[in-house]
Amino acid sequence: MTPAPDTFDNTLNALRDTLLQISRWGCRGFDCSPQTLAIIEKWSRPVAAGPPEDTLQTIRNDLGECRRCALSAERTHLVFGEGNPDAELMFVGEGPGAEEDHSGRPFVGPAGQLLTRIIEAMHLTRDQVYICNVVKCRPPDNRNPEPVEIQTCRPFLERQIKAVEPKVICALGSVATQILLDTNQAVSRLRGRFHDRGGIKVMPTYHPAYLLREPDKKKLVWEDVKKIMAFLRIPL
Ligand code: URA
Repeated sequence: MTPAPDTFDNTLNALRDTLLQISRWGCRGFDCSPQTLAIIEKWSRPVAAGPPEDTLQTIRNDLGECRRCALSAERTHLVFGEGNPDAELMFVGEGPGAEEDHSGRPFVGPAGQLLTRIIEAMHLTRDQVYICNVVKCRPPDNRNPEPVEIQTCRPFLERQIKAVEPKVICALGSVATQILLDTNQAVSRLRGRFHDRGGIKVMPTYHPAYLLREPDKKKLVWEDVKKIMAFLRIPL
């Protein structure tokens, strides 16, 4: 049986990410030569575009009571995202935590409260920006989402970005940064400068949950968000 194109693309992307990840962990058993890894890295196919009149509401409707991946089995609420549908600035995190799973809203737990303070320090409110995550359901025990879970959810994130059309995306942490910039590099290597993503500027920075563990890094995040403010012409 031939899989539907979006299923095929998701499977191919997930297989690529899994092979690259296990080669980084040092697992062998397939050809891990740099040449082969470079070929595997190019396996990705563009994620299917949504319908032309896509809105956040149609995207939410299409997600429905999603059962596309294993994360759905343990979630309480799917956490779609919230904020201004025409926001100039979008924040993308990794995936919902316990409070988010409980409430159905992104970034409302301790890390979310810190994100809210960062947004307010930028002289903005949560209503003025758009906030969402790479995966919409909570990974159990707050583990990182698996490549297959990320790739299954990815078309919906891509459609959210296309619907909102922000000028800037602030990628919170390594998972969001790696997905948005299609890279394996850590956020520490990429933060602090804008990266182009098809005309949208992406500013990677540390995840607020990391800042709660490493408060010394807050000043670096402040440097990063000041660059976003300057680009969006928000006075300091
Ligand atoms: N961490 C995230 O990445 N997203 C949330 O919504 C909450 C915590």
